[in-house]
Amino acid sequence: MHPDLTNYLTNRFPDIFATIKCFPCGDGWFYIIHDLCDCIESHERALKLTYDRRKKSLEGSDARPDPLPCPVEASDVKEKWGSLCFYTSGGTNYIDGAIDLAERLSERICERCGSAAKTRPDRSWVATLCDQCNESEEEGERRNELLIANIKSEYLENSNETATNKE
Ligand SMILES: [Zn+2]
Repeated sequence: MHPDLTNYLTNRFPDIFATIKCFPCGDGWFYIIHDLCDCIESHERALKLTYDRRKKSLEGSDARPDPLPCPVEASDVKEKWGSLCFYTSGGTNYIDGAIDLAERLSERICERCGSAAKTRPDRSWVATLCDQCNESEEEGERRNELLIANIKSEYLENSNETATNKE
């Protein structure tokens, strides 16, 4: 994955990516990884809120709320046989389900450009690509550059703006 996109993800989700700082997979899966981490983060926030409320309601009694699950930390995020592999420690059944869905979706999303795609087992190395990226290296390059520019304008430039506004 492009270093700028990788940096964005590791900075945006520092707890999930506390130890891994690179993703050996295509830029086309940026949105899948981003949205998966967003789901994990929201879910963990909701669990914490429930835990805090329960703890407060039990004040003065000997009872304790059920402990929070270990936070999710990614141990490896990569492409394998045309599919995203998102290995983690910690989490819940909900998070395992979200990861399963993200990995399955990656088999339908072009690694290079993020368009609808399919896994191509007939290539010299298996990859999930749209027709255009599969047929022409040059076209794949063009579409990949366009995707990176779109992600940068949607996420990276906005995040810089937010940082500037806060100053
Ligand atoms: Zn493509």
